[in-house]
Amino acid sequence: MKAYRIRDELNGIAEPPGKTWFWELEAGVIDADRCIQCGTCVAVCPSNSIGVSEDTQLPELVKMCTGCSLCWDFCPRGGFRYEAAWPPSTPVVGEAETTTVERDDPSDPYWRITGAAPEAGLGAVLESYAVRAASRPDGAQDGGVVSALLIAALAAGDIDGALVTRPSDDPDEPWKGVAHLATSAAEIRASAGSFYNQTMALAGLDLSRYDLPAKPKIAVVGTPCEIQAIRAMQSGAWSTGAHRVDAVVLTIALLCTKSFDYRGLMLQLLRDDRGVDIERVGKVDVIRGRMIVEYRDGEMAVDEPVKHFHGAALKGCDECADFLGRGADLSVGSVGSIDGWSSVLVRTERGRVAFSNARGRLDLRELDDPGALVKLDAFDRKVAFGSLRREFDTAAPLFIDYEEHLRTYGDTDRSPVVADR
Ligand SMILES: Cc1cc2nc3c(=O)[nH]c(=O)nc-3n(C[C@H](O)[C@H](O)[C@H](O)COP(=O)(O)OP(=O)(O)OC[C@H]3O[C@@H](n4cnc5c(N)ncnc54)[C@H](O)[C@@H]3O)c2cc1C
Ligand code: SF4
Ligand code: SF4
Repeated sequence: MKAYRIRDELNGIAEPPGKTWFWELEAGVIDADRCIQCGTCVAVCPSNSIGVSEDTQLPELVKMCTGCSLCWDFCPRGGFRYEAAWPPSTPVVGEAETTTVERDDPSDPYWRITGAAPEAGLGAVLESYAVRAASRPDGAQDGGVVSALLIAALAAGDIDGALVTRPSDDPDEPWKGVAHLATSAAEIRASAGSFYNQTMALAGLDLSRYDLPAKPKIAVVGTPCEIQAIRAMQSGAWSTGAHRVDAVVLTIALLCTKSFDYRGLMLQLLRDDRGVDIERVGKVDVIRGRMIVEYRDGEMAVDEPVKHFHGAALKGCDECADFLGRGADLSVGSVGSIDGWSSVLVRTERGRVAFSNARGRLDLRELDDPGALVKLDAFDRKVAFGSLRREFDTAAPLFIDYEEHLRTYGDTDRSPVVADR
């Protein structure tokens, strides 16, 4: 079966024989508090059996699971590790121009976690700049570059829309980012800025409610985990149900060391514990190790070490070693450039076309501090390494204990056992 071949082609991580059911993803990832709310399981399910719980914003089964295994295989905290989408032959340009990684040692923890040796630098980079949009949209996080790139791609007819994150309309959810397909420059501008919550973004690849051409072309702006998953899903050919992974022609990764649970961060730690008036907030930023919250009138609401907010960070982010968004066409972040500018890594030819379309709308110069990117990447990998090492050492909750499972229940039909949990 296709799914099993895909699993074999992944990275040699111990997997159970035969079918893997949604309940196993639920036990090993969602209930174990390792889910990073990327929405990949929703997007990959060919029978549209997985939805997003309104209550928890986590994946839930909405109809029968067929045991096709794809949700497990493509979950970045389940069977998928992003080295599968990052070929060892990827050229490395720039600071660490040396690395060719042989995929020959599955016991090498760096390979298992990141798909490369620790000195793999910035990944594939064709061009890199510090960039600022000549006309920065209101609310832009840094240089307004992501919005400018998307507006230019739309104007050039290279995309019909962009999956971005806009503020929720729900008055009970102030400052919550929700995934949305923007199909006009005005919508892209209205979605500028960073929301420090994950949005189950790839569930938004169900494009059926939008008025789009029969063969739509869309861009996705996402955290690196979301971009890894898109690349992995695009590397195989099978039906992905309602979700149009095939329509994604441009990916922009936002550099990311961690994201947060919306309620934990915005409602509990900021509103309830610190008395922040969320309705008045104009910008939330995590920068230079600090959580900065500013009101729209410029008054500073919070300026504290980000570690004070780690209780609301997603636990699954600790395992992530891809700060730099290596799988994307373009990576954009604040680290490496002065305030008000964005660091841009152009990684692929598609990224180069998108960047040159937007060039007339951008001011650019050399990156101010490329070393800062390498340094934070190394730190991020170290955290991931430590976190996964602990998972491997304790053998839980990364994988269900299949040996024990088989001894107890036999090999014939595991579904009733799992369903009973
Ligand atoms: C959770 C998170 C963590 C980040 N961590 C870092 C970091 O550690 N270091 C660093 O250098 N940069 C980080 N960034 C990136 C940084 O905050 C800016 O997004 C980036 O510099 C682009 O700024 P800009 O002004 O060019 O983009 P803008 O023109 O402001 O556009 C930003 C785009 O990102 C989209 N977006 C906003 N929130 C999300 C989200 N949660 N998920 C997906 N898309 C979203 C918006 O809809 C918009 O299209 C992070 C961003 C996020 C969302
Ligand atoms: S991490 Fe992503 S793919 Fe895995 S269970 Fe959570 S939403 Fe689904
Ligand atoms: S830290 Fe990694 S896993 Fe967490 S949101 Fe960012 S890219 Fe995704």
